[in-house]
This record gives sequence, C-alpha cells and structure tokens, in this order.
Amino acid sequence: MTSTAPRITVSPAHRYGLATGRRWPVDVKPAPDELLSSWLHRLAHANGAPPRYFGAVLGAAGGAWSAQLDRHLPDAVRRLLLDHTSICPEEIDGLCLANSPLSIVRLRLRTRPQDAGTSTAQSSWLQFCPTCLREDAVPYFRRSWTLATRVSCFRHGCRLRDRCPSCGQGLAPFKRDRLVPQQYCAFCDAHLAKPTGPASLGARRLERLIDDLLRLDSAGRAQGDRKSLAARLMRYPVPFGPATSTIPFLSHRVRYDFFRRLSEQQIEARDPTERGPLTLWFRLARTAENHNGLVRMLTDQLSETAGLGLASSSREPDLAALLRTAIRLREDRSTPVTTRAVSYTSGASEDPARPASASCSGSGRSRKDVNPKAAKNASVVTKV
Ligand SMILES: [Zn+2]
Ligand SMILES: [Zn+2]
Repeated sequence: MTSTAPRITVSPAHRYGLATGRRWPVDVKPAPDELLSSWLHRLAHANGAPPRYFGAVLGAAGGAWSAQLDRHLPDAVRRLLLDHTSICPEEIDGLCLANSPLSIVRLRLRTRPQDAGTSTAQSSWLQFCPTCLREDAVPYFRRSWTLATRVSCFRHGCRLRDRCPSCGQGLAPFKRDRLVPQQYCAFCDAHLAKPTGPASLGARRLERLIDDLLRLDSAGRAQGDRKSLAARLMRYPVPFGPATSTIPFLSHRVRYDFFRRLSEQQIEARDPTERGPLTLWFRLARTAENHNGLVRMLTDQLSETAGLGLASSSREPDLAALLRTAIRLREDRSTPVTTRAVSYTSGASEDPARPASASCSGSGRSRKDVNPKAAKNASVVTKV
C-alpha cells in the first residue's frame, strides 16, 4: 500500500447495525432473577459481538458500561433493545436495578480508577454462587447477588464469591474484546465456578432474617426513604480491622466474616446498654436466634413503618401486637398492596426487590402501542 492509498476507517457499531438489520439474529430470553448486564453479555455473545464492542453498538461505551446500565438504563438504550430483540418492556424493566428501595444496600459500582478494588476488603460490584453457575444450563448472574446483605446462596448454602478464584480480581465481563462467555474471568480466563465452602448456620440465619425484613419493609416504600430498614442498615457501620465502613462498600469476605462473628457472639458490645453504633446489628443477631426474637423484630419494624414508634422493645414478643400493626399498616396503604403481597408470597424470585414474575403479557409484542413511560410507571407499582 502506498502513502496515497485511502485510509479505511472501521467502526464496529455501524457495521454491526448494517450487517444485522433491525432484528438481531439470535434471540436470548432472560433467565429467572437475571441481572440486565448478564442478559446483555449473553445477548452479545450469542450474536457474535464481544461485550466491549456490543457496548458501542448500544451507545453505552465506557469502562463498566453494562454494570452502569443495571443501575440506570437511558431511554435511548431501552428503546434500542426493544427494537432489536423480542424482549418486552415489562421484562426489560424487571432486569434493571433502578427505582428500587433497596438500591441503597446494593454493592457499589466503583468507576474511578483510584477506587478500583485494590484492597481485598473493598467491595466488588457483583458477587456470585459458583455452584449456581456450574449448574446453570447457560450460566448467568442474578439480581439478588448485587445485594450487600447477601453472603451465601439460599439454594446451595455455600458462601458467595466476589472475586476470581484464580487471580483475585473482580468481575469485568464488560471489558471483554473476545467472544468468551461471562462465567470466565476477564483477566485470566479461569472458570469462576470453583466451589466455595458452606456458610455457617448462624450467618445464614442472620442473612435470611435481614432478607425477610427487607422484603417486608420495602413494600410500598419509595427509593431514598430514610426511615427504611435498608437506609438504617446503611447508617450502622461494620468494623473491619481498625477501621469501619458500611456494607455496600465491603468485600464478601469482610461481610461474611462480620455476619458469622455476630451470630457467634464474637463481637463484643463495648457499651453494655447496646446503644452504640452496632445496636441494630446486635438486635438483628439476637433476633435471628429464635422465633420470639423474630416476632419482636417484625412488630417493631412494622410499627415504625406505620408511624407508631417502637412497640415491643421492652416487652415479651406479642403475636397479637404484630397482627394489629400489620392490619393498621395495610389499612393505611392504598391499592398496590395486593399486587405486592402476591409477589412476596410466591417465593419465585430470590431478590426481595423484584416482582415474582416480569414476563410479557399477551401473545405477541405490540411495541408501537406501548408508551415506555407508562410501562415504567406500571413496573414501579409491582416492583418493591
Ligand atoms: Zn447457588
Ligand atoms: Zn482471574
């Protein structure tokens, strides 16, 4: 080639659009409780586009582009996905993490290079169960794995993991410039499914209690409600070494160790009245030990939600008080309660902030009839 030859510019996004037309060749259905970024990575892989280039196709190029879309899906990207795939508005909104009262307790996404998980005590944006990944027909990442209050797998009882078992780096499937499935580390190509050990019974009890309480408390709350249990959990620090932090900023190792030690009463209250910064954690740990504690905790939580103040902190647990408070709370709330109750009791979703099912209704898509804003608002009603 001589120096006078014309320069050729290669633009993956433009070429991809030209080559595939309006509908992308391979359709990928979201899996139960799947996270938007996980579905996007699978969609990219199935259609022959490495994730880094697929981000450019979506107009969402940038470091952790897919993890950012989990937390905020711009209308333009949402419309593009609706146009090029068979996913329906309800499904796509059900994959996102936005508009959830539990956003405050989700693991933080660190986007600045200086914040990028250099310490093993620092949180990674996503954790996972290796056994779930190993058993999945097509491995995928769950929405519930973004909750900092989760430390074990409810299905397998094993500890979660938030780093590659081989090189110790966090997950970064969005960086991939080769066609490699997301269950392989983006830095060293190791399979992420190396098993973890079982979580301690005490840690699992405590984690379950917190999950149930968050599920109950978040119903009907708006994102950013400072009285919510999620917001209160954020205000109570977690000690690690000589320092303290709050759960969304801490690695799985630190959070699991904290839950285990709390449940085994290895963490001492310096203040015998337990009015110090660990008060809420101590109360949760005591509550997780038996049924009486659970009744007391539920009554208090419901009472606070209903604006009645603490009901039972100095009394024996009282089931009647719990029921009265629950009825009062239900009467105070308006229409969406029935919908929320259905999604809570079905147990189909592992994520307390996700409706049990977010599937397309009707046989075919009628996107032209769907007003995206109306669809978004409708999903907020059922998505607690
Ligand atoms: Zn599992
Ligand atoms: Zn690795």
